[in-house]
Amino acid sequence: MSGIYIHVPFCLSKCYYCAFYSMPSLKRKDEYLESLRQEMVARKDYLHGMPVSTVYFGGGTPSLLTPEELKTILNLLHDHFPVEADAELTLEANPDTLSLEYLEALNAMGFNRLSIGIQSFFDDDLRYLGRRHDSRHARQCIDWARSAGFDNLSLDLIYGLPTSTADQWNRNLDLFFATGAPHLSAYALTLEPNSILTKRIAMGKAQPVEETAAVRDYGILCQRAAKEGFVHYEISNFCRPGFRSKHNSSYWFQTPYLGLGPAAHSFDGKERRWNAETLDGIRSEYEALTPENAYNEYVMLRLRTMWGLDLKYIRREMGDAFADHCERQAAPLVAQGRLSRTREFLYLTDPQMLFADGIAAALFY
Ligand code: SF4
Repeated sequence: MSGIYIHVPFCLSKCYYCAFYSMPSLKRKDEYLESLRQEMVARKDYLHGMPVSTVYFGGGTPSLLTPEELKTILNLLHDHFPVEADAELTLEANPDTLSLEYLEALNAMGFNRLSIGIQSFFDDDLRYLGRRHDSRHARQCIDWARSAGFDNLSLDLIYGLPTSTADQWNRNLDLFFATGAPHLSAYALTLEPNSILTKRIAMGKAQPVEETAAVRDYGILCQRAAKEGFVHYEISNFCRPGFRSKHNSSYWFQTPYLGLGPAAHSFDGKERRWNAETLDGIRSEYEALTPENAYNEYVMLRLRTMWGLDLKYIRREMGDAFADHCERQAAPLVAQGRLSRTREFLYLTDPQMLFADGIAAALFY
């Protein structure tokens, strides 16, 4: 079992908070498509013939590719990799690029999961974030997605916005649950060093971001999701039973995956590889995982999930030194109630999951 990620680095403009590798122009699209084709040929053996059970088009804005372009990429994938007939095929989309006809074409060519970047159902939030769509169009796209046959639908929301209040965030969640979408990815607004938002705040053109707002909203989110019967399976991801993102779950379970396109990451079970953030030729760097890195990475990835750390697995696969270290470091955190423990597992419960990265750092070797 393996996965393939395809990074599509184009957007129509740059959202204010964005830190992803994307260019606000389509000028180099043909060049990109050709380099993607070449990369598939060059790296067709990376997964050693393992069946591919998930394919994920992320970005950027993958929905800027035409149905014909997407079809060509899917055909190339099938030519070079053993993609399973019932593979999960996800496309990330932004509302300003969608129409009913486009969504029907996606569904007809085999995409069976759609992830739409809604971010908020309120226009003042969307303006603050520098998004191109408004809430009316966001709702229209969700209806279109349903009509086009996307039952496996995920929506993205951003919380911790200074334009919002606890009440408005609750209403955002009301609107999300009313859509019936079975999957929610919700992210705290973060200020990236070189984002437009960071500069706008420094210039006094946008309201500053308060960390307390994210903590407040996350608490509300966890409570509301649990009440609605959603499973909180990763720090930012919630779903109705049976609608977990198989592709993203494979990252947390360290399943091998191949990342194609600029800035994409790959993992073959032994080494991590990442492509340069450029369209000028396929350049990548890699890092073989040392035992320390493998342990630290396991801790970091798994603590973000509901499955947590499997102490028996650490002892069996990584050895006594790592298992003993983990138990030693975890003991005070468990005593303080910041980390939960059963005989075999260490895990974070709601809403402590928001602090997963800091707690993981305390367990690193
Ligand atoms: S659509 Fe996504 S990738 Fe593109 S600029 Fe906005 S946040 Fe960044």
